Amino acid sequence: MTGHTPRLRETLTRLPAYAAGRPPSGQSDLTPYKLSSNENPHPPLPGVLEAIATAAASTNRYPDPSASALVDALAERYDVPRDHIALGTGSVGLLQQVVQISAGPGDEVMFAWRSFEAYPIMTIISGATPVRVPLRADETHDLDAMAEAITERTRLIFICTPNNPTGTVVGQAELDRFLDRVPGDVLVIIDEAYVEFGRDPDAAEGIETYRNRPNVAVLRTFSKAYGLAALRVGFAIAHPEVARGLRQTAVPFGVSTIAQAAAIASLRAEEALLARVDTLVVERTRVEAALADQGWRVPPSQANFVWLRFGDRTADFLTACEGVNLAVRPYGEEGVRITIGEVEANDRFLAVVREFAPEPDAVDEG
Ligand SMILES: *Cc1c(COP(=O)(O)O)cnc(C)c1O
Repeated sequence: MTGHTPRLRETLTRLPAYAAGRPPSGQSDLTPYKLSSNENPHPPLPGVLEAIATAAASTNRYPDPSASALVDALAERYDVPRDHIALGTGSVGLLQQVVQISAGPGDEVMFAWRSFEAYPIMTIISGATPVRVPLRADETHDLDAMAEAITERTRLIFICTPNNPTGTVVGQAELDRFLDRVPGDVLVIIDEAYVEFGRDPDAAEGIETYRNRPNVAVLRTFSKAYGLAALRVGFAIAHPEVARGLRQTAVPFGVSTIAQAAAIASLRAEEALLARVDTLVVERTRVEAALADQGWRVPPSQANFVWLRFGDRTADFLTACEGVNLAVRPYGEEGVRITIGEVEANDRFLAVVREFAPEPDAVDEG
């Protein structure tokens, strides 16, 4: 038969597009910098590159499907049983599986908004209904409003801390109070993609929280602090039934031999990698202080990016950044997320953003 196209699931028509961070525009001769995807500006450590090269030699073979050496390393590192660990193709891969194992048509998946863009996409793919609970005015999770928004249909709740794109964290005490109000049969996922950049002693600790709460699980990634974004490897720490569900729904052989080897080498080199994270935190502090000097009121970031609410000036700021070969990440007419990158990149951002600094008497709108 001609003239017919295959009938696909109707839910696809409701999918928002995932807008990946764009590369620099190439509009100027200045060194291009990509501050649009929260990547680590440091290339892999020599030892990690070596592990990658060694693993590359066996690319003709399928990877170890259970990734046992990496699971062993993670179990030891985080002091959790092996059967509490599930690996994924980045934590975004696990995110999709988390929705698949918990929510389908008629079910609700709740998260703060704004938060990570993958949440509504994965929810809609699964046929479930996204429930977005607005952040408070200070850009933090409104956990009281989230607790009140729980219904009989709520099957899954995402808590992103530090939150992408605002950089704000959930406190341990308020998380505990919230979890006390969540029914035990609702899965709560704490997405800690940026946890290594956090320096707030009151911030919630996902793995400690999971230990005595069977409905709580944690997602971590090697993409950000560990600098392995291109290799696609993340992990979940969850109680056995959830972890098993995640392993059951994983794409077979999804985490490559190279990714497994690089992740193991990164855990071995953790001290050196976390020292690099420290230098990024120092840069973040410097950038935040400079922004405050310019009159900006930015939410304190515990991640490797800052969030500025430009409102209807978002597109103008984007154009100004493109003009100097800086890629940043706009969100509609709300604001822009700027990754903390190389010192020179951060300096260039600060020079551009100065032109947009709020008038002293309009600081509240900053
Ligand atoms: C970057 C990010 C992830 C993970 O990305 P992967 O590369 O798929 O591991 C997960 N959650 C949030 C909030 C992120 O920003």
